[in-house]
Amino acid sequence: MFKPNEDYLKLPGSYLFSTIAKKVNAFQQANPEKNIIRLGIGDVTQPLPPAVIKALHKAVDEQADPATFRGYAPDLGYEFLRHAMAENDFRKRGCDIADDEIFISDGAKSDSGNIQEIFSRDSKIAVCDPVYPVYVDSNVMSGRCGDYDKETGIWSNVIYMPSTAENNFSPELPKEVPDIIYLCFPNNPTGTAITKDRLQDWVDYANKNGSVIIFDAAYEAYISEDNVPHSIFECEGARTCAIELRSFSKNAGFTGLRLAATIIPHDLKVKYQGSEVEMHSLWARRHGTKYNGAPYIVQRAGEACYSSEGQAQIKEMVAGYMKNASYILEGLKEAGYTVYGGVNSPYVWLKTKDNMTSWEFFDYLLENAGVVGTPGSGFGPSGEHYFRLTAFGSYESSVEALNRIKKL
Ligand code: PLP
Repeated sequence: MFKPNEDYLKLPGSYLFSTIAKKVNAFQQANPEKNIIRLGIGDVTQPLPPAVIKALHKAVDEQADPATFRGYAPDLGYEFLRHAMAENDFRKRGCDIADDEIFISDGAKSDSGNIQEIFSRDSKIAVCDPVYPVYVDSNVMSGRCGDYDKETGIWSNVIYMPSTAENNFSPELPKEVPDIIYLCFPNNPTGTAITKDRLQDWVDYANKNGSVIIFDAAYEAYISEDNVPHSIFECEGARTCAIELRSFSKNAGFTGLRLAATIIPHDLKVKYQGSEVEMHSLWARRHGTKYNGAPYIVQRAGEACYSSEGQAQIKEMVAGYMKNASYILEGLKEAGYTVYGGVNSPYVWLKTKDNMTSWEFFDYLLENAGVVGTPGSGFGPSGEHYFRLTAFGSYESSVEALNRIKKL
């Protein structure tokens, strides 16, 4: 008789976005005349940059010609893209990353979910709270997180690092030393960033204690302040303790196309039974066995992001979203809210009004302003009494949403 994987059964239902959708549908049915503005889900809305579209068309035509047709892509990614990324995203910033330390994939969601596989099953993880849910859920699926407490929303074998206004959304270095530390900066959901000096503290901590940092840089393109690092490899010593996740989704509008990369330096090594194991070779083995490469046409589209046209168009797209972010941020301040984020990321994190719970505030905003956001408590216990608005809508809808909120 077959049996289910019991670790999967431990996962609580992910009710956040389905509950939001249900509430929004019910409200729309009851109020068909109301125009609802959705600033909840973190998906981009602008079309792909023209340079990307041009590269896609060209690559499609190549697939139609026997002379240029490509079949299976190399497991680890085409050289042209690995080189373009290593050069532009890392070496031009002074980070010592070789082309072959870049592993191309179809998404940072899959990479952030899969990366735990190359570490021992008894590894203890640490996550920020609130957090992008994939890090914890994928470790639950692998049997690492212990038991779930429904009341508190906490797993017994996970180290939670609260990120709240009290610590300026920069969590304390954990007293109990984790094996794997997940960091995401600029952060989803709080929209806040980390300074290079503070990230250096994390790198020093990891090197001193033998931990590995999985650094999710999915929102790197939104950084506007000089002291905020674009890559963990800007920090000294990161090559021996860090893995970085990159995504083209938010940086270049590829949420539908799917393209990302994981960076694992050869220097990330660990002693095991008298010899040294390179984590790079374990991830290469995983890719070789379980993955057949991101599509050729999509990798060509990714390469186009690094052309001078592509760079200019992407900058313009990101600037458009950031214009929305600053409108939302300033508008909320005018309306009397305490707000965070929105400067180095497309997310604005606000403290709810009158100490409402995150869900009470969700209902309040939907019913009174017809604006949909995301309750902070859906990202972890420390997200309670906070609320997330995204800047991924149009400028007009961001303005309209804020006009409505100001009138409340
Ligand atoms: N990492 C973070 C922090 C995210 O917020 C998201 C998407 O929302 C992802 C990764 C997923 O990226 P991708 O579209 O490349 O799978």
